[in-house]
Amino acid sequence: MARRMLVAGNWKMHGLGADLGEVTMISMAAEKNRRVDTALCMPATLLHRAAAAAPGFDIGGQDVHPEKGGAHTGEISVDMIKDAGGALTIVGHSERREACGQSDGDIAARAAAALSGGLHVILCVGESLDVREAGNAVERVTSQLKASLPADPDPNRLAIAYEPIWAIGTGKVAGPEEIGEMHSALRGALSESLGAECADKVRILYGGSVNGDNAETIFAVDNVDGALVGGASLSAAKFVPIIEAAS
Ligand code: PGA
Repeated sequence: MARRMLVAGNWKMHGLGADLGEVTMISMAAEKNRRVDTALCMPATLLHRAAAAAPGFDIGGQDVHPEKGGAHTGEISVDMIKDAGGALTIVGHSERREACGQSDGDIAARAAAALSGGLHVILCVGESLDVREAGNAVERVTSQLKASLPADPDPNRLAIAYEPIWAIGTGKVAGPEEIGEMHSALRGALSESLGAECADKVRILYGGSVNGDNAETIFAVDNVDGALVGGASLSAAKFVPIIEAAS
């Protein structure tokens, strides 16, 4: 089936109020490329202001806690993201998995809370360089996905992002064959976990050093339904060509 492309930016720990003009410019370009779904996942301090700077454009968080509230210093809840104007969240980014020791089960709980609270979710998976070099990438990433999936997700609000850790922020992009092999294995894993009909609706994004020069080649690969973009999402000049490549 034809799935709509999704191009989402992840600002990570970047961005101050002075940078909100980029959000507005990106949202204006998104408006002109309506065949593609576009979003920006912002640091918590900018969620509310980014939503105000780009009305009608999807703003999201970079992680979410499974509980409604409580003694969880440094965390953010589903309701807080929604209250700030957010429509989606990333969960399971490798930088969060690593920095916070999040297990696959933690990620599944976070994804479940976000979906049941009405947010869209981008759930990240990906292998380290050691695992890739040992030839175990497909097995590792498909089992990571199965263990990180929430039960009975709404496939229209769930996207998976395949982000090889060795390609994040390094300028090294996975090749089209590597991406194609992994995305088709992930589609198969989704099908085993959720059934073919549901799996067919879930978008699988690629992430890791995507830019305006390589986006078209990546988007041409089977089962690539968009991208999760870090560094190149920080400015309209770099992000808009990726949106255009998807449309
Ligand atoms: P990058 O980051 O595009 O800067 O490699 C991608 C990500 O971590 O989502």
